[in-house]
Amino acid sequence: MPDQNFIAGKWVDARGGATDDVLNPATGDVLAKVPASGAEDIDAAVAAAGAAFDEWSSMTPRGRSELLHKVADAIESDLETIKRLEMQNCGKPASIIEFELDLTLDNWRFFAGGARFLEGRAAGEYLEDHTSYVRRDALGVVGSIAPWNYPLNMATWKLGPALAAGNTVVLKPSELTPLSALRLAEITAEILPTGVLNVVTGQGETAGDALVRHPKVAMVSLTGSVETGKIIARTAAETLKRVHLELGGKAPVVIFDDADIEAAVATLTEMSYYNSGQDCTAPCRLMAGPGVYDDLVSGLTDSVGQIVTGDPFDENTAMGPVISADQLDRVSGMVRRAVEAGAEVTVGGNVIDRPGFFYAPSVVAHPAQDSEIVQREVFGPVVSVQRFTDEEQAIAWANDVDYGLSASVWTSDVGRAMRMSAALHFGCVWVNDHIPIVSEMPHGGFKQSGYGKDMSIYAIEAYTELKHVMIKH
Ligand code: NAD
Repeated sequence: MPDQNFIAGKWVDARGGATDDVLNPATGDVLAKVPASGAEDIDAAVAAAGAAFDEWSSMTPRGRSELLHKVADAIESDLETIKRLEMQNCGKPASIIEFELDLTLDNWRFFAGGARFLEGRAAGEYLEDHTSYVRRDALGVVGSIAPWNYPLNMATWKLGPALAAGNTVVLKPSELTPLSALRLAEITAEILPTGVLNVVTGQGETAGDALVRHPKVAMVSLTGSVETGKIIARTAAETLKRVHLELGGKAPVVIFDDADIEAAVATLTEMSYYNSGQDCTAPCRLMAGPGVYDDLVSGLTDSVGQIVTGDPFDENTAMGPVISADQLDRVSGMVRRAVEAGAEVTVGGNVIDRPGFFYAPSVVAHPAQDSEIVQREVFGPVVSVQRFTDEEQAIAWANDVDYGLSASVWTSDVGRAMRMSAALHFGCVWVNDHIPIVSEMPHGGFKQSGYGKDMSIYAIEAYTELKHVMIKH
């Protein structure tokens, strides 16, 4: 398992020699030690990416596309190792990692193809005796900062479009889950030209901050929390670099009286607790109409109580641990405060007594709209359920949060589905489903969930500069 930084095609320790422990959250054991990098390491990686930029950005789209397809092939050949690393480092059960890696592969193949499909306006004579056309130029060195919930998949959402558009990259994975990114560097070392992809591990406040400050970094892309997004946007303002922010969410799930409640309960039992609820789009803020509220709470309480939690390597396990002791404290603190504020836990509500960081899948009924559990991201296996009176109140409550990443509406009335999709201020609205995503469609937030889109051709465009060229005849 690689446990050094990958800079300019070489494996190196942090210049200062320090390391961070990487833990297995299902046991609390140390899995690996990786460099605790600082500004000097970032500087070396940015220099390597800068040196590789001219060759990579001037390669034909077909040339880059072929290499990115080879990256996908290399990941596919290495799936068993990557699967094991993600399971050990994140506590993901076997039952969910397959889907995540399938999406990751599809994302790489989509971006490989997308490298060849950038569009602009037609060239033309918009002024007499002049021909105008637009180019989409690569930006330069992109600093990509990834979170821990889907380590390789989130890294893919950053690397794929940046590389497809002709940029070179310095990737800083989360300090909690750097192993799959290092493995990616290892298996693509012979595919991508030296310096095109560099991976530097370390803490956000040191390595991440140095990347954001670096004057030779043209753009920073973060997937992380709203708080980190704000810090990065402020820091990036010093050099006016571009910022692409995919931040937290607090997805409302609006279930009307005419919805298929059985289908809703089945989907929520699976998706709200998927990845231990550590998903920015997790259906976590349920609102049900007066006619279905009781059925929803009792149906969910029964089925959530049956979710098998435990060892990720046991094939019967549906849900593993949360990522860290801090995250466990955060989740249990939020549920405790919800109860103190008057809500009721109908199932779960406790830390599971075993090694590692396990929290029981939980349902919190009838919290107040202004309570913490409704307003703030838990990022754990917990949903809240509120009872609304009518469509107007459902819209008001759904939109009444700082976040704007995703939402879902459950109804059999097509007109209502249309009205709700327009009224909800979220970057994605599902109707009668929640969570499916595809490479072709954009993913990204409104409001404090950030700006910039991941996946889709819009993501590749986000990693380009639009240039107008005008030629006088
Ligand atoms: P985080 O903000 O703590 O960390 C994300 C990354 O930012 C890490 O690599 C971290 O080291 C780095 N970082 C932290 N402080 C920094 C700083 N001052 N300067 C530069 N880099 C810094 O987030 P997390 O806990 O790793 O991930 C969970 C969060 O990510 C949740 O809020 C979740 O909703 C969000 N998320 C969003 C999406 C999306 O697509 N919108 C997807 C996955 C996760």
